[in-house]
Amino acid sequence: MNGKSFEMYAQLGISRKVTALGEEVLKDLKERFCEIDETAEYNQAKVLLAMQKNRVDAACLTGTTGYGHDDRGRDTLEQVYADVFHTEAALVRPALTCGTHALATALSANLLPGDELLSPVGKPYDTLEEVIGIRESPCSLKELGVSYRQVDLKADGAFDYEGIKNAINDKTKLVTIQRSKGYQMRPTFSVAQIGELIAFVKSVKPGLNVMVDNCYGEFTEETEPSDVGADMTVGSLIKNPGGGLAPIGGYIAGTKKCIDRCHYRLTAPGVGQDVGASMDVNRSLYQGFFLSPTVAASALKGAIFAANLYERLGFFCVPNGREPRHDIIQSIALGSKEAMEAFCAGIQAAAPVDSYVTPVPCPIPGYGDEVIMAAGAFIQGSSIELSADGPIRPPYAVYFQGGLTWQHAKLGILFSLQKLYEKGLITL
Ligand SMILES: *Cc1c(COP(=O)(O)O)cnc(C)c1O
Repeated sequence: MNGKSFEMYAQLGISRKVTALGEEVLKDLKERFCEIDETAEYNQAKVLLAMQKNRVDAACLTGTTGYGHDDRGRDTLEQVYADVFHTEAALVRPALTCGTHALATALSANLLPGDELLSPVGKPYDTLEEVIGIRESPCSLKELGVSYRQVDLKADGAFDYEGIKNAINDKTKLVTIQRSKGYQMRPTFSVAQIGELIAFVKSVKPGLNVMVDNCYGEFTEETEPSDVGADMTVGSLIKNPGGGLAPIGGYIAGTKKCIDRCHYRLTAPGVGQDVGASMDVNRSLYQGFFLSPTVAASALKGAIFAANLYERLGFFCVPNGREPRHDIIQSIALGSKEAMEAFCAGIQAAAPVDSYVTPVPCPIPGYGDEVIMAAGAFIQGSSIELSADGPIRPPYAVYFQGGLTWQHAKLGILFSLQKLYEKGLITL
């Protein structure tokens, strides 16, 4: 960093002490950042190849209205996703309102009354508790007669293969694997680990369908869960694959058999994928997907920087500063509600939009505990943009993610530290 940037950071409100500590930490991260750029290079080429192969052209970028019959932009985009994920088919739509909706669609389309859903990786993401019926809700899978079983991870984070084998029974129809840690302190799984688990459950019961919740994992590695046997790979377009430009949406990439059912569930039986006007979103879904590999790389650099910075100050970080990354989430156990509030205030203060507001904890539909969320994003609630959140419960961990550019991610992390410093919660 040069002297002029130091000065500009000071104008933004980041003290020289904080900036200097950041520079100190960065010195050791050059090699890691190079590896991340190499992954981005590969994934950029993969996306480009899919767009060229499917002859994306100017007409694809415009949308349709009404029924949306013959929406070539929409249909081609779904084929681009299918090619990038190496699947037979994909469903990519603004009508999938968020990641939870995409996951709920994939589950309810492929589970029938009497079937059982198995999670071999412990408790799923908070918002899925009501989808499944772990917390009672109208229209949950439980209410529809789909039972649920869960096998927790072992204490060291490993899969409990014996327990998983015993849990698979005549009713087991679908296995759900969450790649990212979500709001937990467990490790995120690599694509290779997910592949081993898929091979295992399919060896116990051939014909099982496996769905992977891929939220936050896209483009952090050179392969995706769909490359290692997942029948459905599911995520949100206001996370990685939207590249910060998609204004809404979710995707499900997988086998034709599973995806056809998802189309029927999302629209109506018999109607399926032929309807669904894309209105004005096609351009941003294409352009966002095109940018996504480099945006994911920026977010990864931010996460690694945050881990190394906060570890140096003695905080427990998952993943730690050195281990490999399989998603863009960084959790930092801050130990108190006050520290969570200060951290989030810093992320908010670094935002290009809504930088003057202060985030406060509050109840959010779908989550059991109060949640604090900091985001000053161009797309509301977008968590591929610089953001931090976390439920107010021990160990008072914030989950930090995103950053459309590495430079902005860096600024935000330094701002969070600045706020902790100002509140006297850390000493430098
Ligand atoms: C964000 C997330 C979801 C839900 O996605 P929304 O778009 O917030 O509904 C599900 N699973 C995981 C692991 C997530 O990170």
